[in-house]
Amino acid sequence: TFEFSFNNDNVKSVKKRIGLLTSGGDSSGMNAAVRSIVRVAISQGCEAYAIYEGYEGLVQGGNMIKKFEWSDVRGYLSIGGTLIRTVRCQSFREHKGRQQAAYNLIKNGIDALIVCGGDGTLTGADTLRSEWPGLLKELVQTGKLTEEEVTPHTYLTIVGIVCSIDNDMALTDITIGAVTSLHRICEAVDCISSTAFSHSRAFVIEVMGRHCGWLALMAAISSGADYVFIPERPPEAGKWKEEMLDAIEQQREAGKRNTIIIVAEGAIDDNLEHIKADDIRKLLVEAKIDTRVTTLGHIQRGGRPCAYDRNLATLQGVEAVEAVLRATPDTPSPMISVRENKFVCEPLMKAVKLTHQVAEAIAEKNFRRAMELRDPEFSAGYEAYLSTTFMKNKAPSQANHSLKIGIIHIGAPAGGMNAATRAAVRVAINHGHKPIAIYNGFSGLLNENVRELSWLDVDDWASKGGSELGTTKTEADSLELIACQLQKQGINALLLIGGFEAYSSLIKLSKARDKYPAFCIPMVCIPATISNNVPGTEFSLGSDTSLNAIVDGCDVIKQSASASRRRVFVVEVHGGNCGYLAVMAGLAVGATNIYAPEYGLSLKILQEDVNHLVRRFGADKKRTSSGRLILRNESVSSTYTTDVIANIMQTEGQGLYDSRTSILGHIQQGGSPSPMDRIRAKTFAVKCVHFLEKHAHFSDPSEKTKLPEVYTKDPESVAVIGIIGAKIVCTPVSELELETEFDKRKSKKAWWLNVKPLVELLSKWGYSDNEP
Ligand code: ATP
Repeated sequence: TFEFSFNNDNVKSVKKRIGLLTSGGDSSGMNAAVRSIVRVAISQGCEAYAIYEGYEGLVQGGNMIKKFEWSDVRGYLSIGGTLIRTVRCQSFREHKGRQQAAYNLIKNGIDALIVCGGDGTLTGADTLRSEWPGLLKELVQTGKLTEEEVTPHTYLTIVGIVCSIDNDMALTDITIGAVTSLHRICEAVDCISSTAFSHSRAFVIEVMGRHCGWLALMAAISSGADYVFIPERPPEAGKWKEEMLDAIEQQREAGKRNTIIIVAEGAIDDNLEHIKADDIRKLLVEAKIDTRVTTLGHIQRGGRPCAYDRNLATLQGVEAVEAVLRATPDTPSPMISVRENKFVCEPLMKAVKLTHQVAEAIAEKNFRRAMELRDPEFSAGYEAYLSTTFMKNKAPSQANHSLKIGIIHIGAPAGGMNAATRAAVRVAINHGHKPIAIYNGFSGLLNENVRELSWLDVDDWASKGGSELGTTKTEADSLELIACQLQKQGINALLLIGGFEAYSSLIKLSKARDKYPAFCIPMVCIPATISNNVPGTEFSLGSDTSLNAIVDGCDVIKQSASASRRRVFVVEVHGGNCGYLAVMAGLAVGATNIYAPEYGLSLKILQEDVNHLVRRFGADKKRTSSGRLILRNESVSSTYTTDVIANIMQTEGQGLYDSRTSILGHIQQGGSPSPMDRIRAKTFAVKCVHFLEKHAHFSDPSEKTKLPEVYTKDPESVAVIGIIGAKIVCTPVSELELETEFDKRKSKKAWWLNVKPLVELLSKWGYSDNEP
């Protein structure tokens, strides 16, 4: 969830000049942040000054500090790295350099600075702010500036936005660029896995992260890697080699051909000895396993940002401008951070200090503290990784309360369905249960198309798109036959993975409990649908994969439109009655407008958009502007179809531009699931098995009741798992029914509704009648 507080009432009468720079290592999404800062600043009556090459530009001044207009950030969203560039600047570390920086800022009338970078960048900015009054005094004393020049700028406002592929900053759950980097790593590991399988090889893959194992751990979770080394959880010095070899040999004996080991560049043992990729390779070669090392290197910087980073950076840019406008001389410099999926300001230097404490804790061998300093999801992710990667040798204690867990896919395929199944199967086996695959939905169940899955059956499912079990859109209709089959197969816990059909099936089964005892078992649904319309979660599996597929498609379309300069594309996207995909993709691609059911569509809206396009293309005498996209949800209107809208746009444009349609169709299901969907899949699945265990009430055999072995009618035992805020929660369907619009097949809640005005503002404001 991105809850942001942007509102026009905050416009201050003072016309502030806001400087912005990118510094430190580049990360994907920096450009999206710059675009957002520039455009929001202008829309709020401020001026935006881009400072090229980070602090170097600040020290050099001159044409390294450039006033940016609305159109200067055109096309920025989809470009990786930083277009306003970054260099590591030694002179800014020295007092003299900062004095020169202060001089250049005053000369440009800038007294607010938004810095995008890592801990070094934030520290540098804070140092400049604390020295500011002294620096101004020196500049006046040396005659470089006059009292009149410095008086309007007695204090410097600093706001930090954290851009780092490592996701290593404390007090924020995620940093800009980390998810794109994870995309690149997963793509690489997926490629390597297939060659590893072909040749029965092991690969040791080194990923970035000196003091932070986030990338390594998330890559291991996403790719289903066989072993991971991260700095926060160093293995025992005397033991790790043997342990790793045992684990890998055990997997190979079980029939596995490929071995993937992910090692963070800063991996160590608990004696702080560096564990190098090549050391691991040598060990495996000695064990007669053909092994290669791949160091991913700078490919991890990311390139084209993924949808998540574009939206994260855009929304953080909005918050940063707001924070500048709110700032007072007494408030500590804020860092825009994401906590519990909401944007908050945290004291910048507190975050930097805590970040340094991780490295200090590791250096002091206080690994527990290092782990605590990471966000709680990090250690939960680590535990989930272990529980789905290593098979327990001994039968667990719950074995005498073993469940037969039926796993079924329902509805259209969505990225992450297989990853969720893989994780559920493995946790179930490790807990002494039997995972039973039900193939081809409920019709498969009725045809007795069921089979117990083994640990290795699901080995390579983490990265597979589609549905390995097969899925149908049929809801649970023939209840009597379903009950009969569940009983016959001995299934006493049910995991449904799917979209709205899965949710409504769950409701039907739970309502029929009085009639059919076979449904008096714990049942839980993992929402998996690209539309993101299932109640009980802010994100369903598959929605992130789909968002990326749409963004990829739109980037290509936009490029083709740019070639002719004057073209409007009306792009039709999926989502049923839910506008989530249209809105969030619209934000990520810089759409001119979004037409979705939640907002309605009328002739008046179309007229306003035509007016905007005529103004925009009309003002562009040099024909430098790029093509425009309008994202239309498939169900927004039966009158204003995609074709009709395109025709209206073209006719009303009177030759200023032309228009085309594009229907993305099933491409939107995406191929291989995105890392985000894979990670969510694992988290959901692990918790779902715990849920089923918790709600499985085993009857006491000594009581000789006629009840089945597992029997519960507790309403809490039928639930949908989901992400709400930053929490993973199971909400009983009895509660969710109240927040469901059954006729529209969606939740009444939509956290993303207020994103649409921002999409319009970011793409249209500079060309509206309000333009200064
Ligand atoms: P990354 O995480 O990619 O390394 P970073 O922002 O930490 O990003 P640094 O190279 O440490 O990258 O810092 C960027 C710039 O910030 C430096 O080149 C320097 O100009 C400035 N800087 C860093 N630390 C300080 C400091 N203590 N005082 C003044 N300036 C600093």
